[in-house]
Amino acid sequence: MECTICKNGNTEKGHVTVKLEKGGTILLIKEVPADVCTNCGHYYLSSEMTKLVLEKGKEAFDKGAELEVVKLQVA
Ligand SMILES: [Zn+2]
Repeated sequence: MECTICKNGNTEKGHVTVKLEKGGTILLIKEVPADVCTNCGHYYLSSEMTKLVLEKGKEAFDKGAELEVVKLQVA
């Protein structure tokens, strides 16, 4: 699909590292499947992936870890 940020590139299927920050907690979620713009690098997550990412985020934030790095397990 066409990138809505730069309007100059198209997205390709790929994997990205999503960074979430809340309070003193930083969470990095690796290998999240996403559509990535070949021009500006902006990524788009599906609603399903967004849900998974936010669930992972909640786990880490509840634990109160300062820095957590996880790999997304996709069935
Ligand atoms: Zn773009």
